[in-house]
Formats: sequence, structure tokens, C-alpha cells
Amino acid sequence: MAQRPYIVGNWKMNGTRAMLSEARAIDRAAQRNMKVEVALAPPFTLIHAVHREVEQIGVGAQDCHPGEDGAHTGDVSATMLADAGAKFVILGHSERRTGHNESNELVRAKAEAALAAGMRVIMCCGEDAATREKGGAEAFVLAQLRASLPQIENAAERLTVAYEPIWAIGTGNNATPEDIGAMHTAIRGLMVELFGLEEGAEVRILYGGSVKPENARELLSAAEVGGALVGGASLAADSFMGIALAVADAPEG
Ligand code: PEP
Repeated sequence: MAQRPYIVGNWKMNGTRAMLSEARAIDRAAQRNMKVEVALAPPFTLIHAVHREVEQIGVGAQDCHPGEDGAHTGDVSATMLADAGAKFVILGHSERRTGHNESNELVRAKAEAALAAGMRVIMCCGEDAATREKGGAEAFVLAQLRASLPQIENAAERLTVAYEPIWAIGTGNNATPEDIGAMHTAIRGLMVELFGLEEGAEVRILYGGSVKPENARELLSAAEVGGALVGGASLAADSFMGIALAVADAPEG
């Protein structure tokens, strides 16, 4: 079954209630562009407010704790996020793997908690510049994914993978469509190996790393790309929906 391109905005640690007008503008534009599925992951503090303001777009979170509740000062569980209106959670982002020392095992535990709470998971993966230069990008990404993916029955149904080379995030550098296509094809192979031909083929694989309205069509036309995870360009409705429109208007390949 052909799926609509999935364009997800990751607001990271940006946004106060003043940004709700951007979320509303994104939602209105998404209602006019049903060829693309649009979602936003605002910071924890805005999840409930964005959820209440929008009608069309999906709302998600950028992290969760692997536990259900308890003495974890400052943490937020998947159940709490679902209660606030989040339908998915981004996990394994390189900014959390590096900035918070998150291991593959921890990322996997978080993913299992999110699925158990009824949410969908966007599982991030990606190599750093040194690994790519050494020629080890594909082996690294596949090993990272194998160790981070949730080991739960029917996980594929609620799983999206986001390939985000670390050296392309927030830098203005992009992978080439050929490199993206090669990596996504390798990830597709892993999905089929782990989940079987049918379910493995349905897992959407997003590309992330300095995606902008100007380069979206080219980057997202690479093989096995099911959409984009967008950081900086998702903070303004014009640039974020510019990406969604570029993808929606792309000729069918
Ligand atoms: C991201 O951090 O998920 C990301 C892709 O950021 P940017 O689009 O700013 O490179």
C-alpha cells in the first residue's frame, strides 16, 4: 500500500506559547495539503497546548523515560505524554545519544515503554562524520538500529525510522541523494529481515539533516525515502510547509 510522505517537525528546545500561532498556521496549511501527512514534536511544555489547538496534524514528543512512574525527578513517562495528547515519540536522536549519553539499550527500553503506552515511535539513527569518512556508515547505522529497536510483537506497525547523519544535522550540509538512497535501501533490508516482507516494507524511513524547502524535493526523491524529519526549518510555518508542499508537488517517480 502506497503511503503519503510523512513530514515531521522537531522543535527541539524551542518554543513558548507564542509559537502556538505557528502550530495553528502549520495545521491550517496541512488541511489544504492532504497529499502529505504532517506532524510536530514540540517541547514537553507545549504538547498539550498544541494538541488542543490543531485538528489535522499529529502531535508528538521528543523523548520519554522508560519507566511508568516513580522517583525520577524531571523525567516524563510515555503514559504522561499520551495523556497530554502525544501520539508518537522521537527516540534515539543523536542530540540525546550524545548530549545525554543515551545507549542503544536505553533507547530500546524507551521505545518499548512508548509502544506499551499506545504511542508510535520515530527511531533515529545516524553516523558521525569520522565513521562515514572511514567507509563504515552503513554497518554502524544497521548495528545501531538492531540494538535500539523495540523487541515487542507487532512493533513494525507503529514504527518509523529516521536516518539522520549527525554531520548533516543543523549544519547546512546534506548527504547526496545517492548516499541517502543507499542507506535507506540498507535500512529497508534490515526492516524486512526483522519484520518480514510485508510489515518490513510498510515501515516509513525518513531522512533528516538540514532539509529545507529548496532541497526537499531532491533529497526526498532518493530511493526508499518516506518523508523527512525536520529541525530548524520546522520552526516557521512557511519554511516547514514549504518542505511539505515541495514533496506533495513532486512528480510521481
Ligand atoms: C534534527 O535534529 O532532527 C534535524 C534534522 O535538524 P535540522 O533539520 O535542523 O538539521
